[in-house]
Amino acid sequence: MSDKNPHTVCIIGGGMSGLFTGALLAKNGYKVTVLEKNHIIGGGLQSFRRGDVVFNTGMQAFCGYGDDFALKHFIDYIGLNHEDIHFVPLDPNAQEIVWTDKKHAYRLPKTRKRYEEYLISQFSHEAKGIHQLLDAVYEIGSTFDYFWLHPMQLHPAAAKYGVITARQLLEQCLTNERLIRLFEYVGMHLGYNLSCLPATELGMILNLYIEGGWRIAGGNLPFAKQLVQFIEENGGKVYTNTEVSKVTAENRKVVSIKTADGRTFVADQYVCAIPPKTFIQITDGEVLRSTTYDRIMEFNNDSSCCIYHIKLKPNSMKYSNNLIFVPTPTVDNSLPHYISMLTPPSLNQGEWADTVEILTFARYGEYKQWENTKTGHRGADYEKKKEQLSQKTIAYVSQFYPELRDAVDTVYISTPLTVRDYYGNPDGAVYAQQGMFAPVKTKASNLFMTGQSVQYQGLFGTLTTSIAVAEIMMGKSLIGEIANASDGRV
Ligand SMILES: Cc1cc2nc3c(=O)[nH]c(=O)nc-3n(C[C@H](O)[C@H](O)[C@H](O)COP(=O)(O)OP(=O)(O)OC[C@H]3O[C@@H](n4cnc5c(N)ncnc54)[C@H](O)[C@@H]3O)c2cc1C
Repeated sequence: MSDKNPHTVCIIGGGMSGLFTGALLAKNGYKVTVLEKNHIIGGGLQSFRRGDVVFNTGMQAFCGYGDDFALKHFIDYIGLNHEDIHFVPLDPNAQEIVWTDKKHAYRLPKTRKRYEEYLISQFSHEAKGIHQLLDAVYEIGSTFDYFWLHPMQLHPAAAKYGVITARQLLEQCLTNERLIRLFEYVGMHLGYNLSCLPATELGMILNLYIEGGWRIAGGNLPFAKQLVQFIEENGGKVYTNTEVSKVTAENRKVVSIKTADGRTFVADQYVCAIPPKTFIQITDGEVLRSTTYDRIMEFNNDSSCCIYHIKLKPNSMKYSNNLIFVPTPTVDNSLPHYISMLTPPSLNQGEWADTVEILTFARYGEYKQWENTKTGHRGADYEKKKEQLSQKTIAYVSQFYPELRDAVDTVYISTPLTVRDYYGNPDGAVYAQQGMFAPVKTKASNLFMTGQSVQYQGLFGTLTTSIAVAEIMMGKSLIGEIANASDGRV
């Protein structure tokens, strides 16, 4: 590809995967246009300010930033500045604190050896099963080649874990009901109860988090902004407030994109980086293979959440560098059985926390009566429901962390409708359309799909999916170049 005549690419959606794919293509000489409907770029990387505090709308913690993983090398490959993003590792002695009931809290450390030793110290009669489970977890994890920057291989042994649920795998290895319940916290990273997920999902996430979880201090937005800056410095353009309303195709090729405000964008290639169900609404459907189309249409995922963004009174609650999970008081058959709570790190984090984020999973369906209303105008009954839920949730979590009760200054509440509006997913789903695993190539020769519903979810999942998409678009392997980036061999 010559610099004088670069390929042009138009990416629909400026969330994590749109920006990752855009940066990879811009790095390789493409002229990239990103179209984002919101006024803030970033999708799951958005953060917002209320007075002197910053809250994240979506992502709170992630994995894959260790030395052996794709994220660190991707940042070096693109040439972003690690220091300006402010990565913070979770406390290696207790990355997660999991309460199985009001009496028992478990502090789960980093690295397999310490994780296993800790669990065996707490459940000595389960030593064999814990070892067996972690063997399975690491066997599953090793099959996700791109996570570890390995070229793709066939992993026949991994298939056996795709046909059993995560809960079945736990029950094959463990007998103690409290220990099995403890592992349900992993469902919070996936948006489901472990009875509804294949064992491969449990293995993938657990392996990655045991190898190291991370957060970003001061809000996620600077990461998104660095990606935008890189794309624009390399001849591209990122548009916010630009909702794509129509994708037109002729003879199995996308020919143009129209926006809600009447603009038209034309490029050589196009990338869909928005939820697939939303994409279907703006195309004639002809551009997708019928199997992909059917899978998208038949899948219903209304596993959404409420987030309580809490500003704390000064010096009222200690900062803790862990992800905290407390069991839910009510149990839904498919939603995760936990509530998560954390104190996000601020820049120059000291002894006291500025904010607390509490996340509870909830069904989008419970908010359907307000789905045709807009933020700020949903009505008094909606505000009342939010207020009641907030009081109930804070009172419940305060049973585990009593200092929270008097520490709350102000609460800003997101519901499944907020999630729907921020991410553009019609079902308000937090995480991926489980089990989609759609091909990134579509029926249209110049249209490709990325994003959490296509392959893997979360920051690290969308990054590795974006690498795969960029490779297919360019017809060359990038994984080796990215793997070598940190020692200057690119
Ligand atoms: C509340 C919450 C908490 C989460 N916590 C974590 C976490 O702790 N760790 C983690 O790794 N992951 C977390 N996730 C998941 C993570 O945010 C997603 O996996 C990730 O954002 C998916 O990336 P994506 O690019 O597929 O979609 P998104 O990041 O959602 O980006 C899609 C973008 O497309 C835009 N868009 C939609 N329709 C249109 C249109 N018609 N025209 C133009 N633009 C459009 C949207 O506005 C959005 O910006 C969380 C998600 C939520 C909702």
